Amino acid sequence: MAGITNFMQGRSKRILVPGGAGYIGSHTCVELINRGYTPVIVDNFVNSSIASVDRIRQITGANDVPVIEADIRDTAEMVRVLREHECEAVIHFAGLKAVGESTAQPLDYYSNNVQGSLSLLEAMKQAGTGHIVFSSSATVYGTPVSLPYTESHPLAPTNPYGMTKYAVELMLNDLVASRAGINAGILRYFNPIGAHPSGLIGEDPNGVPNNLMPFVAQVAVGRRPHLNVFGNDYDTPDGTGVRDYIHVVDLAEAHIAALEKLLASPDSFTVNLGSGIGHSVLDVVKAFEQASGRDIPLEFVDRRPGDLPAYWADPTHAMELLGWQTRLTLEDMCRDQWAWQSGNPNGYPDVKIGAA
Ligand code: NAD
Ligand code: UDP
Repeated sequence: MAGITNFMQGRSKRILVPGGAGYIGSHTCVELINRGYTPVIVDNFVNSSIASVDRIRQITGANDVPVIEADIRDTAEMVRVLREHECEAVIHFAGLKAVGESTAQPLDYYSNNVQGSLSLLEAMKQAGTGHIVFSSSATVYGTPVSLPYTESHPLAPTNPYGMTKYAVELMLNDLVASRAGINAGILRYFNPIGAHPSGLIGEDPNGVPNNLMPFVAQVAVGRRPHLNVFGNDYDTPDGTGVRDYIHVVDLAEAHIAALEKLLASPDSFTVNLGSGIGHSVLDVVKAFEQASGRDIPLEFVDRRPGDLPAYWADPTHAMELLGWQTRLTLEDMCRDQWAWQSGNPNGYPDVKIGAA
């Protein structure tokens, strides 16, 4: 038995996961553990709760998930953690993500997202860590020249948040080209929604949600009176905005595929992560009403400034390169979002850091 345990421990690669307590990071930690990896979570909890780490342990039965409260801009601490835990790779989620806030506070976004990533890469170089998966976004494409977006679509972000993602992509590409011993997988997410089917982890936004799905879920659970639909006069089938929604568990699985590609071959890559299917705001509302059995009252209001009418991914490259494609539907996304929201109407409980 001891021999088997040692063998298993020997095989458990440690992966640094900055931002691992957040929405997508927590789901990816669950998938990492399911595949026999040990995530080493680093988070400053600026937009997350340590309670999510407890839930990761609850879902997976793993009691040995290290969690370090730190800011990725602390390069020395990142070097220390990478060395101490002998991390083989990094899956980097840490950053700020609210488009509107990025316009009001651009320097916070450049500091957290660009300076933070620079610090992390510097730490990886110092510690000799050779692989990084990076959370980029479809927002790097900007106004569509053609749809669906392919990875070769021109990059022209229209807000500071998107600019920070673009800047980190450029930094990664230059680093890879310098043959510094690091390969990178840049993942351009479309619209992640849903939750783990257990309903134990999910998205827990601070204050009023900016995004559609958490807002709809909070209406369903009675925290908000109605949904404002931003525009019903777009040139789309029902006049409301169209997006490519992707189940967060599908997204988490794509990170494992990307990680394993980087571990197995020296090449770097950039891929879209989406389903290739567009759904309107009204499609999402209808699917959520069905999944929850609740009415979602709505009001049509003016378009939200800066919103694009419609976009969706060409996911072919991810399939060809990583053998990954989405398998979960909008119905699955709404069912699992409802499991999370109805089980945790006010999000994660307040837990003091260090208590989990
Ligand atoms: P999230 O806010 O839930 O998770 C980000 C985590 O990073 C949080 O736990 C936060 O506390 C932590 N963090 C932020 N700044 C940090 C810092 N300087 N040092 C240490 N920890 C820090 O967001 P998410 O939805 O899970 O997104 C994860 C990543 O994916 C982000 O980089 C985001 O920009 C990107 N992304 C998200 C979406 C989306 O719709 N959710 C879409 C495209 C890209
Ligand atoms: N949306 C809406 N009401 C809301 C939030 C979003 O009508 O309260 C619409 C928004 O205009 C867009 C779609 O829902 O057409 C998805 O918006 P989200 O903010 O979730 O994603 P993004 O626009 O960043 O892709």
